[in-house]
Amino acid sequence: MDRNTAPTLMECAGKCLLSNVPAAIKALEILPKHLFIPLFKTAFLGRQKEVLKAMVKVWPFHCLHIGTLKIQERPYDIMEALVDGLQFIPAQSSPSGGPKLRILDLRQNIECRITCSYRTRRAFCFHSCVYSDRSILEVEEALNEAQCLDVVPSETDPGVTWKTAELLINLTFNSTLRTKRFLSFLKSKVEQSSGSLHLCCRYLQINQISVHTNMLQILDPACIDRLEVNRVHLRRVTSLFPQLKHLDSLKLTSIPYQSCNGPNFEIFLTWLGKLDILQELNLSFFCLSDRVHKLLSVLQSPIHLTSLSLPFCDLSNRDITVLSQSSQVTHLKRLNLSNNLIFWGGREPFQILLERVSGTLQHLEINNCQVTDSALEIIIPALTQCYQLRAIVMALNPVTMSALENLLQTLTTMVNLKRVVYPIPAHCYEEGNFPGSLNRQKLNAVKAQLNFLLQMARRSDMSWTTYPE
Ligand SMILES: [Zn+2]
Ligand SMILES: [Zn+2]
Repeated sequence: MDRNTAPTLMECAGKCLLSNVPAAIKALEILPKHLFIPLFKTAFLGRQKEVLKAMVKVWPFHCLHIGTLKIQERPYDIMEALVDGLQFIPAQSSPSGGPKLRILDLRQNIECRITCSYRTRRAFCFHSCVYSDRSILEVEEALNEAQCLDVVPSETDPGVTWKTAELLINLTFNSTLRTKRFLSFLKSKVEQSSGSLHLCCRYLQINQISVHTNMLQILDPACIDRLEVNRVHLRRVTSLFPQLKHLDSLKLTSIPYQSCNGPNFEIFLTWLGKLDILQELNLSFFCLSDRVHKLLSVLQSPIHLTSLSLPFCDLSNRDITVLSQSSQVTHLKRLNLSNNLIFWGGREPFQILLERVSGTLQHLEINNCQVTDSALEIIIPALTQCYQLRAIVMALNPVTMSALENLLQTLTTMVNLKRVVYPIPAHCYEEGNFPGSLNRQKLNAVKAQLNFLLQMARRSDMSWTTYPE
């Protein structure tokens, strides 16, 4: 058995203990503090819901993050068990001060330890909320001020008399019954807490809003740093979130076309202009033709965009020209202009755009942009100046095999570039560029030739693939 995959003695002991759930829960009363973390990991990976709930109740640290632990399936079941372990009792009613756990972090794929071992100057957890008036920091500061002024907390002031806790979570609003059940469970938990549980949603994805508007009442928009909204009327987006003070990533997808015109668009621009720290903007299937100048004019904060995605936005040549002249693009790490009909004649605005982002750009997507052989000739010199580039995605463009070989020979000189998604050359299709008419034999010959050229260039670290593959 591989040394890395062999279970440790601790894991074996944990599994043995967890095989008897009542005994495991009983053992928590006397479990040494340092054994909580390995036992939590084992219980989590084994989906031991009852044990997890019991562990949250007696968790001996201030914070608990699931971090990089993966919930493989039915995540709501595990999340409910963990949230159910949170207890809310008046701080004065327990001589020991009540439960120790103050921050339960259910966000997945966050690079952090299960618990923070060091305190920051203001807080005991690196991830605690710093934006909401209902955060532990704000509530405890108010409590300290009240004590300094010798104000006795009243029964009707729950934030002061009760020990506060934070639940850090990423939420998705969709139409599935399980999501509805989970969200109403969360809502009832917040209500039961008499105001002492702060539901701190950092990432909110909305695929269906109509059945979940009441959830917004218990969310503080100040906490949201990433918002993704799909298929919602533009006016609704701006009215649902009048203030998103700390948003750094916004993605709007498939916003109904007719809702993007007239006063709605002007209101949207005003709203967007207030997002002072926005760094990532993704508008997909959004009617933007000849309006990019208006969009960029409101993004004038000192924080520059690091990611701009405008696929399927019907961009005009004027829009690309405006982009190439904007000071907002000069710090972009990621640029996606896929599925726009870009004009490739004369000295290109796109070429100028590439030159302007050359110092920072790491990821470029220009799928289905009518990039022809002559367009490639124009953009290749500018592309090679983008020395930070890690990935280029340019599928579904009408190029020939010789242009593709020429592209490969140039791109293999870029040492940081590791991934290229290339367009299938036109000769592989029997009719136009229709996927249905793709000749697999010809495509296999193309792949073999590109692999051969990669070997000749000694770039086995580079991946060249078609899309989708
Ligand atoms: Zn922490
Ligand atoms: Zn918060």
